[in-house]
Amino acid sequence: MMDVLDNSLVFPATRAEGLARLRAFLPRAGQSYAKERNHDRGDAEPSAVSRLSPYIRHRLILEEEVIRPAFVRHGPRHSARFVEEVMWRTYWKGWLELRPDAFLRYEADLVTAVERLQADAALSRDYEAAVAGRTGIDAFDAFARSLAADGWLHNHARMWFASIWIFTLRLPWELGADLFLRSLVDADPASNTLSWRWVAGLQTKGKTYLATADNIAAFTGGRFRPEGLATRAEPLEEAPLPPPRGLPAADLAPAADGAPRLRPADRVGLLVTEEDCLAEALGLDGDAVAAIAAVAHPGARARAGFGETGAAARAFLSGALDDALARAAATAPAASAVRLPDDADAAAVADWAVAHDLEALVTAYAPVGPVAAWLDQARAALGDAGIPLLTARRAWDTRAWPLATKGYFAFRESIPKLLDQAGIRAD
Ligand SMILES: Cc1cc2nc3c(=O)[nH]c(=O)nc-3n(C[C@H](O)[C@H](O)[C@H](O)COP(=O)(O)OP(=O)(O)OC[C@H]3O[C@@H](n4cnc5c(N)ncnc54)[C@H](O)[C@@H]3O)c2cc1C
Repeated sequence: MMDVLDNSLVFPATRAEGLARLRAFLPRAGQSYAKERNHDRGDAEPSAVSRLSPYIRHRLILEEEVIRPAFVRHGPRHSARFVEEVMWRTYWKGWLELRPDAFLRYEADLVTAVERLQADAALSRDYEAAVAGRTGIDAFDAFARSLAADGWLHNHARMWFASIWIFTLRLPWELGADLFLRSLVDADPASNTLSWRWVAGLQTKGKTYLATADNIAAFTGGRFRPEGLATRAEPLEEAPLPPPRGLPAADLAPAADGAPRLRPADRVGLLVTEEDCLAEALGLDGDAVAAIAAVAHPGARARAGFGETGAAARAFLSGALDDALARAAATAPAASAVRLPDDADAAAVADWAVAHDLEALVTAYAPVGPVAAWLDQARAALGDAGIPLLTARRAWDTRAWPLATKGYFAFRESIPKLLDQAGIRAD
């Protein structure tokens, strides 16, 4: 692995690669990021953004691991923009964790949108043209093709894409969010669903995002100047969501550095999912870990009949789980380690746990999304076998997520305190 300025759109799915990319990006995480981050000039020029999102999303590297060196290197003022962007992720995760109905409603409305697609030939034709990048709108078509090929788009391109999808092409936003969730290497139920809702005017009531040809031309270095874009973006509407719930309890808090390792039973299993590929940092006593299983859920992300998970996203998931399994196994010398088949059902997890005579199974807390729903089923199947499933939630999440009760700008006020609590200090 070379420590070079490498943030290509091929994403080797290892923690080592994520850390190398972070090191290579750090010199640019200060003022130049603040100045340049909105520009998407294509791959003729080095990217102004980190392209760390797939690594952060699957927790091959943690938010705090990304923020700490940027903060130390550039100081509070010059790192502020980068830190705030990383904290957007933390905020969205917290916001959805307190309001799971936003995701459940999206999933239900997606079913309705797919039914409409099947019943309406014109809608279906427009949808297929959008997915294939055949709309005639230059920027949009290029982004659609990049999404399919690389599984990654610049933030500004995602905003333009979502805006054109909703307001120019007048396609149901849920179908666009589903396309992203199946295609992006960093696809995340919180960041994705809530960003689409934000563009549509659902997230910040009445405030939409309108893509314009001038803005696209200015921030793509003149690569595109699309014609025929909508000139108005009337907000979509919905019934109010239920009020936020409290943060659900987790069973374990990972042991802090230097503290005794967790040993919830003498024969513990470790279950690794794509929600957290840093299982060795959950603070378990490796000598108590008898067996480790890793399982990815590409099918849960691409619900039956809605299309396949894209090749880049599928490859990243698979590589990340292999890498996570190998690292976790290295810290638990006596443990057997296995990759369960993709989308293994809950019964398969229970069978594996029984076969290894486990007394308890530990997994990282999974935030709202398909993996959390799957873990609920696994918990029930394991419970029938008398094996408790214990979730471990990181202090970063437990401290930050309950603060996502209002808008981001209220949450942002808490960033200095959250960094201090995590021991992230400039001196
Ligand atoms: C419609 C739409 C859908 C999106 N879907 C996803 C998604 O599924 N998964 C995802 O991780 N991000 C999503 N984003 C947010 C954002 O576009 C990506 O996180 C960002 O483009 C990743 O590029 P980067 O790693 O170079 O980011 P950088 O600018 O280098 O930022 C560093 C990190 O901060 C976080 N971050 C930055 N901007 C945002 C943001 N606006 N919201 C949340 N986190 C942010 C990411 O973890 C990112 O890796 C979406 C944005 C839009 C508008």
